[in-house]
Amino acid sequence: MTATRPRVRWAILDAPRAVLPLYLGVELAMVVLVVAFPGRAPTDADWARFLALLVVSCLQTELSLGTEKARRYLADRPHINMTSVWMFSGAAVLPAAMAVALTVITYLHLWLRVWWPIQGRHAYRVAFSASTILLAVMSVQPVLRLFGSGDVVRADWQGGLVLLAMAVAILVYTSVNGVPVAIAVKVHHPARPWSKTLGTKAENALELATLSLGGATAVVLVTQPALVALMLLPVIVLHRNVLMRQLEEKAAQDSKTGMLTAEEWQTRVAAELVRNARTREPFAVLMVDLDRFKKVNDTYGHVAGDVVLRSVAETITDQLRAYDSVGRWGGEEFVVLLPQIADDGARDVAERVRTAVGDLTVTVVVGDVTRVITDLSASVGVACFPDAATTVDGLVNVADERMYRAKRAGRNTVVGGTE
Ligand code: GH3
Ligand code: MG
Ligand code: MG
Repeated sequence: MTATRPRVRWAILDAPRAVLPLYLGVELAMVVLVVAFPGRAPTDADWARFLALLVVSCLQTELSLGTEKARRYLADRPHINMTSVWMFSGAAVLPAAMAVALTVITYLHLWLRVWWPIQGRHAYRVAFSASTILLAVMSVQPVLRLFGSGDVVRADWQGGLVLLAMAVAILVYTSVNGVPVAIAVKVHHPARPWSKTLGTKAENALELATLSLGGATAVVLVTQPALVALMLLPVIVLHRNVLMRQLEEKAAQDSKTGMLTAEEWQTRVAAELVRNARTREPFAVLMVDLDRFKKVNDTYGHVAGDVVLRSVAETITDQLRAYDSVGRWGGEEFVVLLPQIADDGARDVAERVRTAVGDLTVTVVVGDVTRVITDLSASVGVACFPDAATTVDGLVNVADERMYRAKRAGRNTVVGGTE
């Protein structure tokens, strides 16, 4: 038996055209900046700091291989790189050329040990995201100098000003790294809203936490480089906790559509009930059932049916606010929780969902043939708290009953409390 070696996936030609100038522009800017501003000549102290960071960075990657691979398999959005702790602290205290070398080695190490073996990433994307990190690394020293010094332990550069300089450097680093990535994600997935290309609140908090640790590491590095080893365990444990959170999120998701499982969705409705039990602030629940979906399966096959289900789920989500929750109740039935909304508002949302499903066009490949599926429709039942019911089951039952009334009324219809 011969082992198959992982193949490098360059595949730049498969990328959308508009992304090429962005990728090449960022890479060119990175090369020009690194060549033009290599920083001061390294001293012995710089070499000691560089080696300390190199050792912890390599150790972290090796000790977290399983965690990082699992995160890669789970991630379908911007992915926060925990090695930023070392790259940011290097950027704050090392000559630019050394900070760049540290970043390149860290990236190559990650690529060889994690990303290449799981074949999950195109090489051109790795090159692009490495370039954005390098640009971010190059941005740190100029920001610190703007605030008076590049030297984080200079005796006369202390107190609030250093804190402010570090905080601004962190924000600039994360923006220089994040904005080109968000633009690239948007070009690859034009339908995805900007809010989703910029990562979730939790991801941004993780990024800031990582860079804050990087800021603290920078100070340890200049005073006692060997003590950087003390940062290793906290970073590895934080990394594992992030994986646990991702696994919890995955467990709460329906694997076919990416929406919440019915259980998770019910938990959210229960939490909304607890929140509103005293205030009696209204909220609404929708039951959305696709019309004659069996016919879609019978005509195009179940695989195509699954593609349609995923598209419908995304279409429903696109009509909602960020704090609404969509779950898959069963087969081709979706449930929606709309916090802080009364009957009229909920009906409007239900109408929007119904219209969007009706306008949906799904392209599927059946065998060798590309088929375009249109003429979808959905029947929607609306139930509002507290008028319709005051329990989770009660609200779902009322929404379900009304959805069946919509079916009986001829399908492709919304039924709420006043019909
Ligand atoms: P209507 O609701 O308008 O009365 O008709 P329908 O054909 O949608 O209703 P019914 O509840 O009788 O059938 C639902 C169909 O949904 C049955 C099954 O073929 C399909 N279905 C359920 N779950 C899945 C799934 O996970 N994937 C696919 N492809 N089809 C599914
Ligand atoms: Mg149906
Ligand atoms: Mg059904």
